[in-house]
Amino acid sequence: MVFEAVISSDRTMISNHHGREFLGFMTTSPPIGLPEKIWMWLAAPKPKVDKLGRPVEAPYGLRKIEAKLLEEGFNTAIVDPDHIAKHLDTMKVLLIGHHDYFAYGPPSNEWWMIMGKEPINRISFMRFMNSTAVREAKRRGVKIIVGGPAAWQWLWESGLWKKWGIDTVVEGEAELVIGDLVEAALNGEKLPDYVYVGPSDSPSIDEIPVIKGASVNGLVEIMRGCPRGCKFCSVTLRPLRFIPLDYIRKEIEVNVKAGVKNVILHSEDVLLYHADGVKPLPEPILNLHKMAASLVPGTLVWSHTSLAAVKYSEEKHRLITRLMNEIILTRQEFLGVEVGIETGSTRLAKIIMPAKAAPYPTEKWPEVVIDAFRIMHENRIIPAATLILGLPKEREDDLVATAELLDELKQYRSLIVPMFFVPMGALKNMDWFRKHRIKEEHIKIMLKTLNHSLRWAEDIINNFYLKEPHMYPVRLGIKLLIKYIRFKARQVKPAIEAIIQEREKKNT
Ligand code: SF4
Repeated sequence: MVFEAVISSDRTMISNHHGREFLGFMTTSPPIGLPEKIWMWLAAPKPKVDKLGRPVEAPYGLRKIEAKLLEEGFNTAIVDPDHIAKHLDTMKVLLIGHHDYFAYGPPSNEWWMIMGKEPINRISFMRFMNSTAVREAKRRGVKIIVGGPAAWQWLWESGLWKKWGIDTVVEGEAELVIGDLVEAALNGEKLPDYVYVGPSDSPSIDEIPVIKGASVNGLVEIMRGCPRGCKFCSVTLRPLRFIPLDYIRKEIEVNVKAGVKNVILHSEDVLLYHADGVKPLPEPILNLHKMAASLVPGTLVWSHTSLAAVKYSEEKHRLITRLMNEIILTRQEFLGVEVGIETGSTRLAKIIMPAKAAPYPTEKWPEVVIDAFRIMHENRIIPAATLILGLPKEREDDLVATAELLDELKQYRSLIVPMFFVPMGALKNMDWFRKHRIKEEHIKIMLKTLNHSLRWAEDIINNFYLKEPHMYPVRLGIKLLIKYIRFKARQVKPAIEAIIQEREKKNT
């Protein structure tokens, strides 16, 4: 088979992370206490591929691009990074996608800042771009088009953009532009340096293709966009679209046919699927889960939901209890999901995320968070929650409010990860950031979240996660890692406190 348009990325992207999406987060950190090779094996093992180097499972975003190009008649395939060389004689275009090319997104930037070392996703991507196969492709005149959720990061790496000969950066949803770009590349035309796809050029439901090959861990999109309008989030710029049930069914069937046993329902807020504004409705949610559960033998996972939707759907409809007892807990022991706390301060919440608590008033944000955590804890939903530190208008009293909220959340099973709001470019000089941006209150919050997450990570590993016999080596690796981080945290704490005191002395 001949592929003129090869789609690929580096190893941190082309992996199924042992079937556990959450392990993929380890790629956002530098290796901690382990050699890089073992870290990579834990976080991003090589996937199964066919003779042509096509992985059985591939990132969903790349699958969408592949599907669109196939529908438009191009000879294309997703190829594992170790197998690119097999296609050098036929390849005319190399398309690359990534969640976090240069580790400027959260949580990579935070790990980078704390550890003072480049995260493994950045190292791995650089290695891919500098590989003999990619360099040889460029030497032969292959056009390189990059895109995906982290496309914006190229604007901060113009030197590498030029050095690697990137022909086009595509930012935004690419379905309606990718065919023309590939066509132009195949015809040897000059490509635009940068293509921005704005909200008005986003594809309608009919223009979004069904994936043709399996996605990593069975991820399928159930909606695009988010109505909450948080100021720091680009998702909110996209129009809200609900993917119809029969379309979701087709994608799950593609995955099942390829042997993928689980489903990750992807949305910025799963509970808002066919909701009444920001008020979840029971019927569409129950129907979606019944359908997914009827198709796969394995587990269901949510990508993200909002805390306000958890509280509202339970208090108004008992939806969380029904969903978990009637469908999800009949087949698995827990449900994992990402949620956003961002801040415990109602003052700051009003500025940066005025609709995050809706339909509740923003004044009730801490109460919404606590109630949602309680509801999730009682129903065996395990959230991985984010906090954002260092926002432009953040004051010390905001950080105190966040610390108080964390105290209230201690009793609820969860992982909480603080992330720094980082002005891009500052990352290029991490010392500047370490010296000037971190306040004592930030450190206190970071230590609180670390203690919280380590405590609950041990509980989750002991009682919920990686329990199958074939996962014992991974489980052992994670347990050792938790112990090592605990040990390091005890060592590092006095050193951090000394740095802060020294800085404060200098400032006075
Ligand atoms: S709720 Fe989440 S996805 Fe929606 S706008 Fe806010 S941060 Fe973005």
